[in-house]
Amino acid sequence: MNQHLSDRITHMQESATLKMAKISRELKAQGQDIIDLSIGEPDFDTPQHIKDAAKKAIDDGYTHYTPVPGYPELRKAIAVKLKRDNNLDYTPEQIVVSTGAKQSIANVVLSLINAGDEVLLPAPYWVSYSAIADLAEGKSIEVHASIENDFKVTPAQLEALMTSKTKLIIFSSPCNPTGSVYSYEELQALAQMLAKHPNVYVICDEIYEFINYTGKPNASLAQFPEVKDQVITVNGFSKGFAMTGWRLGYIAAPLWIAQACDKMQGQITSGTCSIAQMAGVAAATGTLQPTYDMVVQFRKRRDLVYKLLNEIPGIKTNLPEGAFYFFFDVSAFFGKKYGDYTINCPEDMSGYLLREGKIGLVNGEAFGDKNCIRLSYAASEDKLTKVCSRLKDALAKLS
Ligand code: PMP
Ligand code: GLU
Repeated sequence: MNQHLSDRITHMQESATLKMAKISRELKAQGQDIIDLSIGEPDFDTPQHIKDAAKKAIDDGYTHYTPVPGYPELRKAIAVKLKRDNNLDYTPEQIVVSTGAKQSIANVVLSLINAGDEVLLPAPYWVSYSAIADLAEGKSIEVHASIENDFKVTPAQLEALMTSKTKLIIFSSPCNPTGSVYSYEELQALAQMLAKHPNVYVICDEIYEFINYTGKPNASLAQFPEVKDQVITVNGFSKGFAMTGWRLGYIAAPLWIAQACDKMQGQITSGTCSIAQMAGVAAATGTLQPTYDMVVQFRKRRDLVYKLLNEIPGIKTNLPEGAFYFFFDVSAFFGKKYGDYTINCPEDMSGYLLREGKIGLVNGEAFGDKNCIRLSYAASEDKLTKVCSRLKDALAKLS
């Protein structure tokens, strides 16, 4: 690191998901036969009606700067979608569209957190939550959930760690990396606890809402009136509509928070891409059939990987109810060796599996966990079968 760089960037952790994807890509470019399941993105193409809307947007002249919080028609379409899919009442003014849900989260955290404010992170959590909280000089406090409890925290666990400095809680449901889904009843209990702490805000990240195998609609924390003014609902088009490259996410929030995010974004990126926004209108208002078709495939893959992982001695996993990840426990291998490799932690394990097993997975430390590694099953059944076979062989070499 160059000594002239700011403390801010020097201390920032590189995104572990993106880093692993980058290394896998480099090794593949060198001719190595790596199967990369590190990055979480649908391997499906964006649905045709969304692509057509983008092409039309170019022809119709949607090529200029956009309003900072998004085109009115997109904010309106999102408000209608939130009512249709999530039973949430928001006006278009409460919605801010950004360059991906990642930016949406950064806008909120930078708008709410002062130096020293505490940010509670139910762990395992998505890698960027802690990095963004650090950027805002907040203090991340991890609240650990175990695999035995399906990686879910209880309201009592969260409440026990609250102090006068607690400002924000950030969680996702369905969860990246664990695939856990909080039920309506679990969120209701969380809402009842939070209502006693009106100065604590919650980012409820619902980006995997459609990739949910429970058979019930995805529950939203903001639907409980007693906490609606404390909740920032985050969502985006990357996962449910296979639109990762379009960079389109949004928040729905109390008006004063939406206005702050608008101001923040106005100084950093301005409104997001005009063409992507018009594609977003088509996604939010159009048929969900391609999404449902994709979820059928994800479910089949989940069942396949669950079966294959359970056939590998030493691996412990839960059955994820949503998203497209397995976050499995590899601690039974800690202390074991093969050749020059010694495995003492998930990072050693993901390095070993990449170099020796030729598979790209992400270490659990980046998600706030010391025992697990993450596998994204957004890949073909053929690839998934090969990965599990390579995983089994590589683990069997350790003694
Ligand atoms: N939240 C979670 C839980 C995610 O997994 C992702 C995926 N990168 C994001 C937010 C950000 O998504 P995007 O920036 O692509 O909208
Ligand atoms: N959300 C995805 C993941 O967790 C994309 C990569 C990222 O932005 O972290 O792999």
